[in-house]
Amino acid sequence: VPLILTQFLDRAVKLYGDKKAIINDDRVYTYRELNERVNQLSRGLSDLGVTKGDKVAYLAPNTVEMLEGFYGVFQLGAVMVPLNIRLTSEDYLYILNHSESRILFIDQELYHLIAPIKDQLDTVEDIIVHYHDGSCDERDYDEFLRSYSNREFEREYVEETDICSLLYTSGTTGNPKGVMLTHRNNYLHALTSMHHLRVDDEDVLAHVLPMFHVNGWGSPFYYTANGATQVCLRKASPESIVEAIERHGVTVMHMAPTVLNSLLQYYENNTPIFNQNIRVVIAGSAPPPSFVTRVEEELGWEFIQVYGMTESTPLTTISTIRSHFQDLPQEEQYRIKAKSGVQMIGTEVRVVNELGEEVAWNAKEVGELIVRGNGVMKGYWKNEEATRETIRDGWLYTGDMANVDEEGNIEIIDRKKDVIISGGENISSIEVEGALYEHPMVLEAAVIAVPHEKWGETPHAFVVSREGAEVTEEELIQFSRAKLAHFKAITGVTFVDELPKTASGKIQKVRLRHDYWESVG
Ligand code: ATP
Ligand code: MG
Repeated sequence: VPLILTQFLDRAVKLYGDKKAIINDDRVYTYRELNERVNQLSRGLSDLGVTKGDKVAYLAPNTVEMLEGFYGVFQLGAVMVPLNIRLTSEDYLYILNHSESRILFIDQELYHLIAPIKDQLDTVEDIIVHYHDGSCDERDYDEFLRSYSNREFEREYVEETDICSLLYTSGTTGNPKGVMLTHRNNYLHALTSMHHLRVDDEDVLAHVLPMFHVNGWGSPFYYTANGATQVCLRKASPESIVEAIERHGVTVMHMAPTVLNSLLQYYENNTPIFNQNIRVVIAGSAPPPSFVTRVEEELGWEFIQVYGMTESTPLTTISTIRSHFQDLPQEEQYRIKAKSGVQMIGTEVRVVNELGEEVAWNAKEVGELIVRGNGVMKGYWKNEEATRETIRDGWLYTGDMANVDEEGNIEIIDRKKDVIISGGENISSIEVEGALYEHPMVLEAAVIAVPHEKWGETPHAFVVSREGAEVTEEELIQFSRAKLAHFKAITGVTFVDELPKTASGKIQKVRLRHDYWESVG
């Protein structure tokens, strides 16, 4: 039997058919009902002429409509193209044309982003609007679904190596690239993740990470397969997350460190009302080490760090505490969790120097992290050159610099492009940010390289300070000198009201560099 993602929904329907599966504001669906909606959707798409290999784009926040899109599209052997909801109309024009999407599903509140470019869409034949409020002439999704039967749908035969999604990368470092992931990539990623995260039918997942981003995209599969309840959150504000935790007894959440930070802030000022059931929160994207301690001590939740990228489906390493670490002092355990952990089942990771040799496990030598295994993408869509540069001899070159400690834990030092080279020394912007986050008045910090007459480059911080906080540039410079080796200390600070972020919550350093250059003229 080929490993196809629709099998996960089948299992949920069979074993958990009448269980509360999806919570979307005041609507609740069982897995059976979800499956019926999925069947209606597949019929509708088929009626519109969608066939195997066709691209179907989604521009939507985390809603049940987005979730049913996955299986509705897969039943036809078609390919889902989820779009980041925080791009510009030009970006959508580029991605929709580049991906050759035939159908676009869009949430009403995002329709205004597409209206101005509608005439320039080369391949989109139909636009179908979720939560249609009558303000545009496109099809209404609810009416569309209602016109089709919810009986079992006769599925198209797909190979496990067929692609199921074209996920455009976050665009943190430049233009987004279309990553081709297969059913097999996602299927095996789901099996591995459910094992490492111990997912079961008592779990209640809050979809905090956007489903259009690879982390949020991949998680519904393993929670569905295990009959967990999934709460769709339109917004990742602390208020909506806390409401879900309190109303629905959420047990697990995956989130970006920036969102976790806002939640930590929230709990500083508000006491939880009900007992919380959270067992674990999972974060990637370089969470500062101080977050680990704060989550575990202040909130009492287990913290797990993961590392991955769109091109690896994503998760490749995980920082769960192995049993032989459990007797270690608490501080030591936090230190381990502040790293990205060890390779997950089904992946092999290595840190290699410029000659391609594996670096020693001594936490000192730094090299590029490379990954091989089940999650590695099929390639970049219509970009063979970039594919050849990124996957060499079966290894995915991540562009991330890392080291490995004596226990085999990977520590991500920085993206190659973000490393600051000062007086010939490499400085990790992530490490400098970690130090700044320890300052009580710092709410958010991002560090970039700026030119320096003597040293070539020097670390410069962009800081959002806490409301009402009195903190000066000089104080932060001195603070970083006290925390770090002097050559790593920041030499300047720009205070800002907010940091530019991608929709998945990542700080966009490209934009900060741009802002810096603007400010110096
Ligand atoms: P683009 O490739 O378009 O510039 P992006 O690399 O941010 O965007 P993603 O695939 O979403 O797109 O992100 C993967 C990257 O996120 C990794 O290559 C790495 O730099 C960073 N990252 C992920 N997890 C961690 C982690 N635990 N620690 C440090 N960095 C991380
Ligand atoms: Mg990348």
